[in-house]
Amino acid sequence: MKQRAFPELEQLESIAARLGNRAHCEIVETVEHAGCRFPIHCLTLGSSAPNVPVLAYFGGVHGLEKIGSEVILAYLHTLCELLDWDEELNRRLSNSRLVFMPLVNPVGVFRGTRCNGHGVDLMRNSPIESDGNTRLYSGQRFSPKLPWYRGDESKMEKEAQALCRVVHRHLFDAPLAIAVDLHSGFGIHDRLWFPYASRQTPFPDLADAYALKQLFDRCYPHHFYKIEPMSQEYVISGDLWDYLYDDFTDRYRQRKLFLPLTLEMGSWLWLRKSPTHLFQRHGLFHPLLPHRQQRILRRHLTLFDFLFRCLLYPRQWAKLDTPQAEENQRQAMELWYG
Ligand SMILES: [Zn+2]
Repeated sequence: MKQRAFPELEQLESIAARLGNRAHCEIVETVEHAGCRFPIHCLTLGSSAPNVPVLAYFGGVHGLEKIGSEVILAYLHTLCELLDWDEELNRRLSNSRLVFMPLVNPVGVFRGTRCNGHGVDLMRNSPIESDGNTRLYSGQRFSPKLPWYRGDESKMEKEAQALCRVVHRHLFDAPLAIAVDLHSGFGIHDRLWFPYASRQTPFPDLADAYALKQLFDRCYPHHFYKIEPMSQEYVISGDLWDYLYDDFTDRYRQRKLFLPLTLEMGSWLWLRKSPTHLFQRHGLFHPLLPHRQQRILRRHLTLFDFLFRCLLYPRQWAKLDTPQAEENQRQAMELWYG
């Protein structure tokens, strides 16, 4: 399939080769486009036991926002090097698992399109219907030629199904699981979103999301993330994380926590400094200048490290069984739904 360069896929395969038997790498799906076959990889580091906490990273769901894939690949590169000598990291990984799907939509990343090869916006592709919202960007089923096309109602796209399979296999069984799905493009701030995307009602684990935010604010008072339910900004149909979260909640919520987060990197700031990039294909979603790209590749390492710590030491924030949980719920309602 490599008539044309696909640097992100080459980078992923090179990291997987360097990791060797220190990682488990598999092709969880293959999609075809224009006579070429594109693999979707899932790479895992750490314990393969079903009862360890899991932190998972997903990128390239919207192919045009390939900076998300690149941020994950840069993080994977760092982990790959650290594993050689950082005994503490090796110890952490003996009690936990990191899961990576950096190229969920390889055809989209390869072609520089938001949608997959069938014109489907994968983040509008689940059966979840939004709460009475009819804007075009919320998802439409008129035509794949228009943006935000939701695809066939009766069957999810192969890429979306592959993502769901990975979440089911690696995250649903875990006592605690955090997913981070990386996107870019909305606004000038970096946002960390939690459910719901489809409705403006609080999700059942609101108190935990609030406790996580409190902990982050306390430990990193100068961080720059706006942490909020996604529906505060806009409401969409077909969100894969709402779909997975609801599925998890029906089955397991009494016993464990699955927290899906979306990291929406605010790319309009990059444009403000270089407005002419708006007229280039990736301009609105990708930092085009090398120094700006490098800055984005290292910008989120503090967050990733914080989330890893939260995964390993959840007693301060997750599934609290104390009066503090009620207080967190009250404050969260006041902050986001007041
Ligand atoms: Zn996106």
